[in-house]
Amino acid sequence: MIQLDALLCDCEHPTIAPSSAPIVEWVLEDEELLGDREPLLTSERPVVIDQLAAFGVETLRLTGTSGLDAVDELIERADDHGLETTLRTSGQQLDQSRLESLADSGLTRVSVLVEGLSTPREQHTSSDAIDAALETLRAADDTDLATELRFPLQAESVTDMEEIYDLAALLSADRFRLTHVPEPELDEEQRRRAVRRLADLARDAHERGTHLETVLSGGIDAGYVAEYAQDRLEEACSTDVREALRERLGTAPSPPVAKLGPAGRVYPGPFWDRYALGSVRDRPFGSIWTDESNPLLERLRHEEAGLPDRCRGCQFGDICSGGSRGRALAVHDDPFEPDPVCYVDKEAAAGGSPAESTAD
Ligand code: SF4
Repeated sequence: MIQLDALLCDCEHPTIAPSSAPIVEWVLEDEELLGDREPLLTSERPVVIDQLAAFGVETLRLTGTSGLDAVDELIERADDHGLETTLRTSGQQLDQSRLESLADSGLTRVSVLVEGLSTPREQHTSSDAIDAALETLRAADDTDLATELRFPLQAESVTDMEEIYDLAALLSADRFRLTHVPEPELDEEQRRRAVRRLADLARDAHERGTHLETVLSGGIDAGYVAEYAQDRLEEACSTDVREALRERLGTAPSPPVAKLGPAGRVYPGPFWDRYALGSVRDRPFGSIWTDESNPLLERLRHEEAGLPDRCRGCQFGDICSGGSRGRALAVHDDPFEPDPVCYVDKEAAAGGSPAESTAD
């Protein structure tokens, strides 16, 4: 995660205490069950929290298309172990009393997905989801929960970004998060323009004294953010930005995010839906995550050969490290192909130093 406002306004990235444990994204339920037909039983789930805590996981994201109404016990267990838990909703609406009860259980943050502005009547399903997200944000404002609005960059809603950013501030959201999803309709220039605009918005908000934490998911934006800093900031600050990005990459665990599927399978990142590393039903999470005999983990972590050719010659390799292997898998059917959303100017970026992979 890149925190744009701190990086571009204070020329520093908030220092994250180095942790060898990844963030864990737990998909509690989804329609496909990630290829597995036997989701973890309610009685099995608390043991998984114990496994995560035993391995030193500090941050947990709970997500899913359903099943979020029975998360209180998990959140309480995580809180007892000192884990920070975010509940990520996608279309579900939570009212104030539900949010207060989740906060009482120990929830740290609620994160809502907003894919665009409310749309005309014929697309009412997506409008309903957006309205539900915004109502949840409104309701959360009167609770102790931190809040986040997630905005995935997509061709049909890229022009909505600025208005949604303003909406996030208006609804007193604590954080706006832009994510990149594989999207063939969105070209590189549109991605560059969107991130450039978001950087401008974050700096304007900072100058006006409006605090809205503005973050970019993953490391794929690092190269373009470094270019932006070079173009728009004073030289000393731009050098600090690049150094802060390098430090961020250097202190991130590898891979930085683990995905836990509904049936307890462990994947090496949020975009993975096959090649599970193991199941928490068979052995503890820590044993799966540190299994050095696993050739996939070995390649993701240690081998420069795990990076696509393009990234090995890229001048941003030391701060980006090849983007997401999971996105490459989703689009190319091969995790060691280039990240399909990379949007830096490839010719300008060519010719840099090689990098070691800590891709997600
Ligand atoms: S070419 Fe590779 S290393 Fe360079 S910015 Fe793109 S994904 Fe990152």
